[in-house]
Amino acid sequence: MNNGIRCSNCGAEVFSTSAVCRYCNTPIKPEKLLAEGDREKISDVVSAMEETLQVESGNSWITGVAFLFLGVLAVVSFFLYSMLLSSVTTVWVLTIFSGLLLFITFGAVVEYTERKAVGKAYREDVKVRIDEYLKTMNFHRYEFDSVADDLLPKKALLRRFLFTP
Ligand SMILES: [Zn+2]
Repeated sequence: MNNGIRCSNCGAEVFSTSAVCRYCNTPIKPEKLLAEGDREKISDVVSAMEETLQVESGNSWITGVAFLFLGVLAVVSFFLYSMLLSSVTTVWVLTIFSGLLLFITFGAVVEYTERKAVGKAYREDVKVRIDEYLKTMNFHRYEFDSVADDLLPKKALLRRFLFTP
């Protein structure tokens, strides 16, 4: 891994594909500034990688299953409460209340599953492709991350993985 890059803070030898030093977390900034053409090339890759993650997060089948389940449970709970209670108002209030609780719970499960799917796609696909690209083009990860940071909207999925070792 002798690629001649050293951490400006602790002096450790570091990968050019890393955004920060893995020993002291200092950003690995290259000395040269990126040329406009290079920025554009990297921008294209950033967009493609973000799109890959977006597709992966939209693929999650759990969302459909969770909301189907939610609907069924809401109906079942309505009939259950109807059998146990005589007041129609209480039945409705309880149904709405438990429906809301289910909605929050399922929302958390869906969110968790989506995060895991996106994380897996990043580690096993996107990061591998970024590393390969940086090596081939002789760009640094810090350059990739700063272009991505400028380019990506606040809610972009790729942002979860920028400036991390
Ligand atoms: Zn360091």
